[in-house]
Amino acid sequence: MNKNEYYRQIPKMDEILEDKEIRLLCEEYGRGLVLEIARAKLDELRAFISDHEVWQIQQELDFLYSRLVDAISQELVFPLRKVYNGTGIILHTNLGRAPLGERQQEAAIGAMQGYSNLEYDLNMGSRGKRWEHYVKLICKVIGCEGAIAVNNNAAAVMVMLSALTRGKEVIVSRGELIEIGGRFRIPEVMEQSGALLREVGTTNRTRISDYEAAINENTGALLKVHTSNYKIQGFAEDASVEELVELGNTYHLPVLMDLGSGILVNLERYGLPHSPTVQEILSSGADLVCFSGDKLLGGPQAGIIAGKQTYIQRMENHPLMRAVRLDKCTIGALTETFRQYLDLGRAQQNIPVLKMLSKTREQLKAQAVSMAGLLSDMEFPGIIQTECSVSMLGGGTLPCEEIPSYAVTIIPHRESEEEMVEKLRKLDIPLIAYVKNGKVWIDMRTIQETEVFDLAEEMVAGWRK
Ligand SMILES: *Cc1c(COP(=O)(O)O)cnc(C)c1O
Repeated sequence: MNKNEYYRQIPKMDEILEDKEIRLLCEEYGRGLVLEIARAKLDELRAFISDHEVWQIQQELDFLYSRLVDAISQELVFPLRKVYNGTGIILHTNLGRAPLGERQQEAAIGAMQGYSNLEYDLNMGSRGKRWEHYVKLICKVIGCEGAIAVNNNAAAVMVMLSALTRGKEVIVSRGELIEIGGRFRIPEVMEQSGALLREVGTTNRTRISDYEAAINENTGALLKVHTSNYKIQGFAEDASVEELVELGNTYHLPVLMDLGSGILVNLERYGLPHSPTVQEILSSGADLVCFSGDKLLGGPQAGIIAGKQTYIQRMENHPLMRAVRLDKCTIGALTETFRQYLDLGRAQQNIPVLKMLSKTREQLKAQAVSMAGLLSDMEFPGIIQTECSVSMLGGGTLPCEEIPSYAVTIIPHRESEEEMVEKLRKLDIPLIAYVKNGKVWIDMRTIQETEVFDLAEEMVAGWRK
């Protein structure tokens, strides 16, 4: 056959659209999109015929329909997808930080399904406030006078400084001028807020006397920032919240703290070192503390500011609030998150972040053994073992702390460890695993018990393809 005959074998577009599978895709995604992708594929095929030898062409023609269906499906797959987190990092920013539990999901769905009393007072039959749904609850759980919530903690810092310290100096230690990632840098956020950064002390040592020496008539506040994702070890010193509060009282200056992670529970109960809780910061006398909703709190993306009502009031009516307010789904999930915290036992059961954190190494070992058993029974191609591993909190809480965990490890039969990790990433429901000591590791702390069976099946199916 010469090339012209191959060109003639290319089906007409009408004929392609008559194909059963293609018709189904048209019904699901609309004819316009399918047509566009099919045209591009046919152009590619014509170019292939012109550039290749006759013996290579027949195969391309034979596979035309299946390539077309693959291309259309790939183009139209929903881009934001579930993944299995095998990294052992509980608050993994790239994997969506805190996953939400069933109760929290139900509350979010409930809020968006139909109309709601989002800003409607059912008793009065008139306009209500959207924050009334959660403010009282937050105050009750934390034990504070007032609270507000905004889009995220970066916005919380911004609102706090804009509302209270615009045009005034805010004193911060040089050891706390941090960058969190995603371009959140304390000096830049302060600049945006209109507050003037007054840095004191040094990277590793700042004393309370350094703060005092910097106070003048234009000082607006003392700010302490949790260093979150790094730690200075060795010759280091910082001023405590108590010291700052004493100084603030003397000079009538508010003490603000950006705590980063929303820790409401003493972490020692999980065998971790103590890290100050929101309640402790406030009972030390800080005027305001702000923190993330989707770090250790285990809720939706949000930023919460809690503390003295006189300061909260000034933020409620600030124009920025309108730009960073919460949407109704988040309000649903956040309200439910705090409802769970009314009883710590319940919170540990229903908030996934706390549930993952409270699992013992023994429990995770049992889960690893069961997963390894499933993979071996289904003849997954590799040497499958279970081993002690270390997981991490992530999300800028206890950056250097390793949490004892358990993992399934695999030495692949057919490919390199890196190739296996890549292949796992491309499963229908991707698994994010990692390579260490010549093995592929799947940490059990971030895999739910209910996911073990489906994950094993997914892996086996991926290698059968
Ligand atoms: C994480 C963090 C932030 C940013 O919080 P988001 O909720 O991600 O906006 C700000 N400050 C500190 C100290 C943090 O750890």
